[in-house]
Amino acid sequence: MRYYSTRSKNETANFTKAALTGLAPDGGLFVPEEIPQYPTPVISSLGTMGFLDIAFETIKPFVKGEITDNALIDIITSAFTFDAPLVPVADRYVIELFHGPTAAFKDFGARFMARAFSYLRRGEDLPLHILVATSGDTGGAVADGFFDVPGIFVTVLYPKGRVTPLQERQIAGLGNNIKALAVEGSFDDCQMLVKAALADESLQKRKALSSANSINISRLIPQAVYYSATAGKAALEYRSLPVTLCVPSGNFGNLTAGLYAMKMGAPVRQFIAATNINKTVPDYLDSGNYAARISQTTISNAMDVGAPSNFERMSAHFSLEDMRKIILGVSVTDDETTGTIVRIHNNTGYFLDPHSAVGWKGVDKLKADNKIGEGAVGILCTAHPAKFSEVVEPLIGSVPLPASLTNAMERTVSAKTIPADISAFIGILHEAH
Ligand SMILES: *Cc1c(COP(=O)(O)O)cnc(C)c1O
Repeated sequence: MRYYSTRSKNETANFTKAALTGLAPDGGLFVPEEIPQYPTPVISSLGTMGFLDIAFETIKPFVKGEITDNALIDIITSAFTFDAPLVPVADRYVIELFHGPTAAFKDFGARFMARAFSYLRRGEDLPLHILVATSGDTGGAVADGFFDVPGIFVTVLYPKGRVTPLQERQIAGLGNNIKALAVEGSFDDCQMLVKAALADESLQKRKALSSANSINISRLIPQAVYYSATAGKAALEYRSLPVTLCVPSGNFGNLTAGLYAMKMGAPVRQFIAATNINKTVPDYLDSGNYAARISQTTISNAMDVGAPSNFERMSAHFSLEDMRKIILGVSVTDDETTGTIVRIHNNTGYFLDPHSAVGWKGVDKLKADNKIGEGAVGILCTAHPAKFSEVVEPLIGSVPLPASLTNAMERTVSAKTIPADISAFIGILHEAH
């Protein structure tokens, strides 16, 4: 598969280069030249195929000629040791994406990426430096995915004081090849620093650098897998009708992966892009004007993004008109989010984390406006509620902690605080290793 930059069709790469460099040299994001199609027999059996088989069929065309079938099978078998169960709750499904080691959906992408990098760089001597900006969950998933992978160093940048104690331990508690920087600023500042460092020529000359944000195509592609698995199962259980899937969104990598799955042939009727008050994309779908802005802090902090990177990718594939046909935008306030956590727990006993609650409430609002068509409705539950116990427990009481999170809570945080300043950050990178 060939990939090209969202900013110039002349800037091309194969999967290996697109994955290992992260950002295109012109500052754009790599997108596949075309979105492949599942063979028809695969589409008709998505509902009954195993998760690993769907993963193989989904990822194979994107890495063809660069990762052998056998290597791909090894990578996905070792990455996807958990799947994405579809659970009926009240009048809809929830898709639990939080059964991985850091209890958020980002484990799917991060674990695949780490194993793919290790394969693609077999035989290399120069260590690879991975830079990652996080609003909370990415950093933990990437740190966990790459922890102790030989030949790879990871630097995670997170907004100081704006991640939860658990997230901070997942990011800054591992040590060894994982370094944590607490940035005095917002997630957008962290992202700006990573982009600036990746574009810095003096660094490029001396180090092999890459990113691990959802700007990296190798994290995005594996996320298409659970959309196809979910859509297949939901159609099987619900009169063969395509499903409407609601995606709690921040940087829009997850939704972009869903769009890929739909284009490949997964039976999705429509997507709902549910945001908190950082509603740049819902506003765009409404008005047709794209206006990035400064992010605002909310209780669904993994979605506090005012300038979503993957919007550039979405618009490389789809016009405004296309997007309006397949994506409904909706935004949800913190009060609506907490109200939803309480109401759903009281009515059904189900615990929603704040991000998933944004998705739930987004569906309620669109249903009230009669905007959702026939067929099943599924909400992607992007994190385990225990990961956001600071928000959830005062509302509905204690949430049982999965074993992976209990272990993480025992780690000690070790991070260096830095200002949101490009030259300070680049200086630190020059000194490192
Ligand atoms: C990252 C994250 C999101 C947002 O996903 P994007 O791909 O950035 O849109 C939503 N919920 C949780 C829990 C997350 O960690």
